[in-house]
Amino acid sequence: MKEIILVKNGELVLKGLNRSSFEDVLIKNMRRHLEDLGEFAFTKSQSTIMVEAPDTADLDEAEERLSKVFGIAAYSRAAVCDKDMQSIVKTAREYLKGQLEAVSTFKVEAKRSDKSFPLKSPEICRELGGALLKSFNHLKVDVHNPDVTVTAEIRDSHAFVRGNSIKGAGGMPTGTSGRACVMISGGIDSPVAAYMMAKRGIELVAVHFASPPYTSELAEMKVMELLKKVSAYCGTITTYVVPFTEIQEAIRDCCPQEYFTLVMRRIMMQITNMIAENQNCRAIITGESLGQVASQTIYALQCTDSVAKFPVFRPCIGMDKDEIIAVSRKIDTFETSIQPYEDCCTVFTPRHPRTRPKLSDVEEAQAKIDGLEKMINDAANGAKRRFIKAAQ
Ligand code: ATP
Ligand code: MG
Repeated sequence: MKEIILVKNGELVLKGLNRSSFEDVLIKNMRRHLEDLGEFAFTKSQSTIMVEAPDTADLDEAEERLSKVFGIAAYSRAAVCDKDMQSIVKTAREYLKGQLEAVSTFKVEAKRSDKSFPLKSPEICRELGGALLKSFNHLKVDVHNPDVTVTAEIRDSHAFVRGNSIKGAGGMPTGTSGRACVMISGGIDSPVAAYMMAKRGIELVAVHFASPPYTSELAEMKVMELLKKVSAYCGTITTYVVPFTEIQEAIRDCCPQEYFTLVMRRIMMQITNMIAENQNCRAIITGESLGQVASQTIYALQCTDSVAKFPVFRPCIGMDKDEIIAVSRKIDTFETSIQPYEDCCTVFTPRHPRTRPKLSDVEEAQAKIDGLEKMINDAANGAKRRFIKAAQ
């Protein structure tokens, strides 16, 4: 039995005249996610995209991959059959056997884009519904809240039969909202922030600050592991690892302790600005959440924002930790995030950081570092670039 995957795009429908180009990006992204599984064919028709697999492809794996592609509202697998009631009934009986045996209620829906088909939609429903009731005599019809909705679609060349559709990853296709630089740590929040903005159609570039020997090779590998998980949703992530040791030591040696963290965060932002500019990004993303730690008070955020050259997106800003954790579990980053490796943010942390810093005091503290501009340039230029892709 020939089987295909039907993909329903979501918000794309709202995009009016842009719809077609959004769909083209979605198809390009689906093709990329599936590329090592074979040559798939994609056909647009109304708000559905038909995904046809080559005979050799692993359809379960293809479905799993597509479940993470942004821009897909729902998807379902469907059996393809001839356009006559006999084949439709036979196909539904065989193809949906497992699903129908496992539930107690169903209903049938029919869609007829080929208006020359001899039966009208209500007649298709009646005939197919009656046949299924006969074959599965434990089943009852429930038109309001069925366990399974059996859909028969009559298209120009073929008919499709399918069961329930599955909710997709939602959001907008990666790349349709431009590029942004995410500041990524090994923690719980920043991978969630990266995922949330990627879901809105952003293509990600990642920046990670490493301070060896204070931070270890394992801490860096953990960050790459997290990015791989995020890239299962949004495709390859260009990643920069910035050498940050010299700057952190300079902060420790030159600045008053209570301003260590804020000066450091401003310098991280300045270096991220440079990478963002270079990489054609239009925004910066962080995992900050208001009030979570001293560097995430309104006053502290103002100090970092004052050096930002781009809008700073903080999608976790209004979320509680347990809400952020729920997303991290959903995207499977949580278990990796909680592995205990040090981050540069916790190197030389002061015991009593300022929670209500004055911008002018932080600027004054930062000005105490001699030769900072050169150090910032060296760090940005010395960043190692990698291309992180989901393990497939
Ligand atoms: P997370 O769970 O994402 O690590 P956090 O609550 O631990 O966040 P901080 O360590 O204060 O908070 O970091 C706040 C934000 O700063 C992070 O969400 C991330 O965007 C950025 N950040 C922190 N450490 C690094 C790093 N080593 N490299 C790049 N960005 C970082
Ligand atoms: Mg952190």
